[in-house]
Amino acid sequence: MPDVTVAIIGSGFGGIGMAASLIRAGLTDVVLLERAADLGGTWRDNSYPGAACDVPSHLYCFSFAPNPDWSRSFSPQPEIWRYLRRVAAEEGVTGKIRFGAEVTSARWDPAARLWRVETTRSTLTARFLISAAGPLSDPLIPELPGLGTFAGTVFHSAAWNHDHDLAGRNVAVIGTGASAIQFVPRIQPLAGRLTVFQRTPGWIMPRHDRQISRLERWLFRHLPVTQQIARAGIYCGREAYALGFVKDPAIMGAAQAMALRQLHRQVADADLRGRLTPSYRMGCKRVLLSNDYYPALTQPNVSLVTDGITEIREKSVLTSDGTAHQVDTLIFGTGFHVTDFPVARRIFGPDGVSLADRWSAHVTQPAQTAFRGTTTAGFPNLFVLTGPNTGLGHSSQVFMIEAQIRYVLGALVHAGRLAVDRIEVRPEAQAAYDRVVQRKMRRTVWVTGGCKSWYLDSDGRNVALWPDFTWVYARQTRRFDPSNYSLTADTGAAYPAASQPR
Ligand SMILES: Cc1cc2nc3c(=O)[nH]c(=O)nc-3n(C[C@H](O)[C@H](O)[C@H](O)COP(=O)(O)OP(=O)(O)OC[C@H]3O[C@@H](n4cnc5c(N)ncnc54)[C@H](O)[C@@H]3O)c2cc1C
Repeated sequence: MPDVTVAIIGSGFGGIGMAASLIRAGLTDVVLLERAADLGGTWRDNSYPGAACDVPSHLYCFSFAPNPDWSRSFSPQPEIWRYLRRVAAEEGVTGKIRFGAEVTSARWDPAARLWRVETTRSTLTARFLISAAGPLSDPLIPELPGLGTFAGTVFHSAAWNHDHDLAGRNVAVIGTGASAIQFVPRIQPLAGRLTVFQRTPGWIMPRHDRQISRLERWLFRHLPVTQQIARAGIYCGREAYALGFVKDPAIMGAAQAMALRQLHRQVADADLRGRLTPSYRMGCKRVLLSNDYYPALTQPNVSLVTDGITEIREKSVLTSDGTAHQVDTLIFGTGFHVTDFPVARRIFGPDGVSLADRWSAHVTQPAQTAFRGTTTAGFPNLFVLTGPNTGLGHSSQVFMIEAQIRYVLGALVHAGRLAVDRIEVRPEAQAAYDRVVQRKMRRTVWVTGGCKSWYLDSDGRNVALWPDFTWVYARQTRRFDPSNYSLTADTGAAYPAASQPR
């Protein structure tokens, strides 16, 4: 018998939501393995100044745990982190988390039909393993020549050094993505000099953020239907964006015009404006929202550098034009390991092959695919939340996570009902699913938009994003579909697909 029925890696939105749903369904034999000392994932780690969600809060939360008290349309990080801690406590999840337990390996034992999981704290066996290790949880610092020789302070935006006072400093920010555009306006007034190193400009739309009034909050609390209506309205509005992302990228032209109007309004200098104007179609890279990033760049203590970085020296950053930019603090806003999926290097199937190697073994299957973004042939009883092609460019990731949670829950309930102790997706189902995903992908802005983004793997395949409306994914994952799986009863007998009850 395994030590535990379900082991979950991670305690962000995915881990907490999964555990809460299992507990609500009566499957309480669950443990969450979390490498950090607290829960919250993204919203624990990204505490940089100005950190906030960029999908409205009333959609960027669990449908089963609405929060009438969101203070703003795009709530700040401390509030989202507090929300996650509250939900985990109320749903009975907190007590099931083992903190400081980094999963170093998980190996499928085919004889015992269970996962043997090693963590930095202990080992355990689990019948089912659910990875909720996060799509953006391992910060990426580029390998810049000479970085090790830098004598000043260095940190990544996802591990902000709050003890380092930026007042009067010569600060370099490397990267101009979704995090940098949030913290640059906050640190600009503090820094003595701020040099922002940009590789490719992003499309930046106005951010329609506002305080949520006391009346609205009262209504949301006392008339919950008003909050459901607000959430539904935001959801539909966001789905309309999907038209431009995945159906007809030409539609993005109207939004591009709006972004350019903001750029013209906020940046008077034609040269700076030129360097901030993207040359690819909007949506190809993550669309950014800000009202104060461009104004921050126009301040006298700020320079925008677009020449490539060639070397880091003891006290400077050298660029391809030969300039040495003097700095004493280096802040990386360079994003995360996404397409290389770090946890996949630690999960091993029955033949000892890691999930990462399986996903890169082009001979047996196309790179990095998972049926419904969740299950992979050769890895029985493993479910990956925010797996391949489940990310979004236009709406709430929590919506996708909840759809996956429903699907996984359906699988576990099905297994429990039939006394099944081994579930493995059929390779042909996985391959057919991937063919449809990649066919849809061909017309999306991520493929046709003329940019190179972190959504693409080393072969140029978009393995990160879902190429359709989110409701299509929710419909596909609404019910567990046993005919796509091979199931083995705990007596060792296999269920023929045709006889599996639906
Ligand atoms: C700054 C920022 C802003 C964002 N804003 C939005 C937004 O507005 N809207 C949106 O839809 N999405 C946003 N995202 C994406 C966000 O990551 C997801 O929405 C969501 O939070 C992912 O939740 P998760 O539980 O899957 O992963 P995470 O929140 O990353 O949690 C993963 C957890 O797993 C743990 N873990 C990882 N590996 C191991 C291991 N080997 N062993 C043990 N524990 C491990 C980590 O410590 C972490 O606690 C944002 C991301 C970032 C970085």
